[in-house]
Amino acid sequence: MSDYNREQSEAIATVEHHLKTQSPSELARLKTRIKTYLRFRKEIDQFSQHHFSQICTRKCYQDDYSACCNREGITTFFADIVINVMMSSDDEIKRLLRVVSIPNHGLKCVYLRKMGCLWRIKPIVCEMFLCEHARNSVFDNEPNARKQWKRLRRREKRYTWPNRPVLFDDLEAYFIRAGYSSNLMYFHNSPGLLRVKSLAMKEENTVP
Ligand code: SF4
Repeated sequence: MSDYNREQSEAIATVEHHLKTQSPSELARLKTRIKTYLRFRKEIDQFSQHHFSQICTRKCYQDDYSACCNREGITTFFADIVINVMMSSDDEIKRLLRVVSIPNHGLKCVYLRKMGCLWRIKPIVCEMFLCEHARNSVFDNEPNARKQWKRLRRREKRYTWPNRPVLFDDLEAYFIRAGYSSNLMYFHNSPGLLRVKSLAMKEENTVP
């Protein structure tokens, strides 16, 4: 198993195990915590369906171009996995664990199958990725869509950019407090993101 597949597999199994041991009220509390984020994801999904579904289907699926969904090219945050596992059925989780247990000799992401991405709530990096071709084709003709996309990008930061308390950081911290660790906990082990957090903290402390 590649390092990538192993990290994915361990993180999925960890989250699944932990959630299975939680009380219904704790699970309900966690679901409430991610509610606004899920609403945000629905909005992006509607935006993408409306503006990009045609071009992405033609370019990536019919012409086999696919600039996204490349092999091991995506960053999955630990919180992506938490949210996805929380929203997935047991069968969907089993399917994810099965595909990461198989060596990936292809050029595409391990999670990409004939029916599309196997994640129910795919990683935020994937959701926010628009290849240059798709961007130019749509935004050059629809300036309002470009503005809308910029607004969505700004909103994404409220969940993922840790210059303030954000959901993705909180979910990692929750699992760390419960005694787990993972290389995918980038909000606690990526030098770049740690720097963002420490700069934000310094700024806060210098505000009179
Ligand atoms: S996780 Fe899903 S959306 Fe992201 S690269 Fe893989 S198949 Fe594509």
